Amino acid sequence: MNLFVANWKMNMTRGEAAAYARELGGLVGDRKLDVELAVAPPFTALDAGKDPEGRWSMAGQNVASETSGAFTGEVSAKMLADAGCRYAIVGHSERRHIFGEDGKMLARKLARVREAGLTPIYCLGETEEEREKGLTEATLVQQVETLRDDPLAEPLVVAYEPVWAIGTGKAATVEDCSSAQVHLVELLSGRSDLRILYGGSVTPENCRALLSNGRVDGFLIGGASLKARSFAVIAGILAS
Ligand code: PEP
Repeated sequence: MNLFVANWKMNMTRGEAAAYARELGGLVGDRKLDVELAVAPPFTALDAGKDPEGRWSMAGQNVASETSGAFTGEVSAKMLADAGCRYAIVGHSERRHIFGEDGKMLARKLARVREAGLTPIYCLGETEEEREKGLTEATLVQQVETLRDDPLAEPLVVAYEPVWAIGTGKAATVEDCSSAQVHLVELLSGRSDLRILYGGSVTPENCRALLSNGRVDGFLIGGASLKARSFAVIAGILAS
């Protein structure tokens, strides 16, 4: 089933999250969805963004690489599970590039996520410079290496998010997206339960074309997910 994840980043107070949840709940109503929805609020709004009827699941935007202890400011995978999360985002480009998270740290985070029974949404993608130098495939190979110790039989969500497309308004073309997806499917061919999402400036206007290549299993959406209505349109629940 295709998965659509709303990554709110550092946006939304608890009150705003509750209003969003009410609006999204109203838009979904009692229809039987043939897609899966997940919402990734800041930690403080995890409770407020939840759906009492369970029509979407919750995701942590980040997770600690350690289990517990003296790590001021960190939130563990066990805490995310306790707060009702099903997913944890690992390796978002903002974590890699702003906070300097490297493959070694991300591998530890993935292990903590599995120990807590959560499913990782593992983000990867090349920078503009890597793309211009023809290093897209090599970058993906290296980033997939981080999954080396992750159990093959467990469900895995990978989000292909070219860094140059995130928050820039410059989404990948359908062709860019297809070729990265084909490559990732090859690299992850040992996986029995794999979904590959695309992320990077997805909007209600470009989402149909991006989905039409038939290789994308959904989207990780930042900016356009901040409005419940556009999230619902992108997920195909609502006509634009
Ligand atoms: C993201 O945060 O993962 C993302 C893809 O952001 P945006 O949709 O705003 O480009």
